[in-house]
Amino acid sequence: MTSSNATHSAAHEATYEFTAPFRAPQGSPIRELFKYVGRPGMISFAGGYPSKDLFDREGLGRALEAAYRDDPIACLQYGDTAGAPRLRQSLARLMAARGVRCEADDIMVTTGSQQGFDLLLRTLIAPGDTALIEEPAYPAAIQALRLAGANIVTVRTDRDGIDVQALAAQLDAWSEANKPKLLYTVPTFANPTGATLPRVRREALVRLAAAHRIVLVEDDPYGELRFSGESVPPMLALAEQCPGARDWIVYFGSLSKIVAPGLRIGWAVAPAAIARRMIVAKQTSDLCTAPLAQETARHYLDSGSLEPHLRSIVGAYRSRCEALLNALTHFAPHDVRFAAPEGGMFVWARLAGGRDAGEILKRAIEQNVMFVPGVAFYVREPDVCSLRLSFAAPSEAEAFEGARRLASALSQG
Ligand code: PMP
Repeated sequence: MTSSNATHSAAHEATYEFTAPFRAPQGSPIRELFKYVGRPGMISFAGGYPSKDLFDREGLGRALEAAYRDDPIACLQYGDTAGAPRLRQSLARLMAARGVRCEADDIMVTTGSQQGFDLLLRTLIAPGDTALIEEPAYPAAIQALRLAGANIVTVRTDRDGIDVQALAAQLDAWSEANKPKLLYTVPTFANPTGATLPRVRREALVRLAAAHRIVLVEDDPYGELRFSGESVPPMLALAEQCPGARDWIVYFGSLSKIVAPGLRIGWAVAPAAIARRMIVAKQTSDLCTAPLAQETARHYLDSGSLEPHLRSIVGAYRSRCEALLNALTHFAPHDVRFAAPEGGMFVWARLAGGRDAGEILKRAIEQNVMFVPGVAFYVREPDVCSLRLSFAAPSEAEAFEGARRLASALSQG
């Protein structure tokens, strides 16, 4: 930016009457780190990106060609705001495979699941309304709540996710008039902790949400990326056992982590009254999710390519995760403590001796290795010793070298 532009910007800052959340907005703390990712030789444990080596380029190329060849007009014309009917059918089958009773009409396609959450907030949260979120939490969910002007209240987690007993006590303390409107959680292979909420806690959480009439937001982009342990049904599936509970769950799915984020295909399964309003909100957001991407996704899902692709990426993520954990244990046994995840993309770790992960990151970047300091995942009072390492992108050899560099950065601190 030139200095005259900078002067201009300063004048404009003072000139416009921005809404409260946009007066001094903070951008995504993780996106701030991206400027270092492209540096030659950098090994990044920072992004939540799928590995570029693991995309099914041929399969997606075939799906794109088939979509255009079979029905070019469906690809080129505006489409239904709720999503392309045939994709909604394919996604309903995918949800059935996850144990959820679901028709095409119950599915709303969104431009990434991130958009789904934003649309939901537009329908439910007015400035000042209370929203609950697990902590540590996915930063873009915190950011969306901040921009919606929500009164954000955090919910305690342990190594298995939300502490449901603590939450129950927290909820009992609220009066009906000012109770929270929603609770956001990533119950399977959480971002950032990798934690998975056990079945009994899921059942208790579903009952709690229904009893207190709070919308339970189940964000599930990572659920299919399980490489060890027993699979646990989504809360939306478990809600069938609890009369009326499905009316209190909004589920978000995404093809970003299991197929490709560039498609920008996500979906929501929401109670009809909520879905109807989210569709109205989407009409003013993007009219419809890109039809070319929707048709490509539909051909990809219907071709049967997803299952073998999932087997291949889950195998690769298992090896990469093991490589990272082994290397951390080897190089920094006394400096870093971590919990081994059963799937997903993330390892949540803590530095021993009260060390600040943000300070260590500066030295790590000099050594050409990166991670995300835990501060990014907290609403108010961060645990500065915590950090998130993603094992999705680096190869096994890079994970090993990255852990060695990290240990070297730690040894200088
Ligand atoms: N939820 C969580 C927990 C995520 O980690 C991400 C992506 N990092 C998203 C939602 C957004 O995914 P999408 O690409 O579908 O918008």
